[in-house]
Amino acid sequence: MLIDSHCHLTYEIDPAGVDAVIARARDAGVGIIICPTADPIDVPAAIKLADTRDNVFATIGIHPEHAECTAADYITDEILAHPRVLGVGEIGLDYHGDDVPARDAQIKLFTEQLEMARRGGLPVAIHTRDAEEDTAAILADFPEIGGVMHCFTSGWGLAKKMLDRGFYFSASGILTFKNAGDIRDTFAKIPANRIVVETDSPYCAPVPYRGRVCEPAFVVETARVVAGIKNIPFEKFCDIVMENTKHLYPKIKI
Ligand SMILES: [Zn+2]
Repeated sequence: MLIDSHCHLTYEIDPAGVDAVIARARDAGVGIIICPTADPIDVPAAIKLADTRDNVFATIGIHPEHAECTAADYITDEILAHPRVLGVGEIGLDYHGDDVPARDAQIKLFTEQLEMARRGGLPVAIHTRDAEEDTAAILADFPEIGGVMHCFTSGWGLAKKMLDRGFYFSASGILTFKNAGDIRDTFAKIPANRIVVETDSPYCAPVPYRGRVCEPAFVVETARVVAGIKNIPFEKFCDIVMENTKHLYPKIKI
């Protein structure tokens, strides 16, 4: 069985509804789905999904694209103590392009949520894009926090730093793209016991579904590619990913 460790189930993936998406995932062998939040309006929806679907869990956080927000307005200690809320995420920094929020606002929101994770004793799911240096520097102030580098596409420099502090690395559909040789090379060097997989649905559908709306069933394709890179039989790799995800998110009950 596989786990899709990062899937935006609160977004409309299929007009037929979320249960059709979950059913197709189950049929493909993807038995567990972890739903992160990015926009504060998704927080109640993600918790509701985790509460009402036996194979869905949540992580709760505000993405840097909403850096004008104060996390405490949306995320309470009670929410983070919820038994099916596994961590704080997705949070981080995104300096890509010209229309991203000001860096100081992003850093303030990121730091606020790292403090929440520390208080709650929870792991974090980190989004970082064109912001590797600041991400590593800020995380260095929170040495007790573990977590995962979600949709990891950075180079070996950041990978090594985060490996040394015990983080996990999540492979997304991007790894299956023809032009992603550098990312595959990085994952070749990351130990198998630090790798988890995700779709980041509805984004980044893997080959051979590129261009379609991504859904959790497709994580199988990414897992196959990573298993190949690591030279591990697919079924065994799925078992390793399951163990890794349980270590990453100790609150998960499967
Ligand atoms: Zn995401």
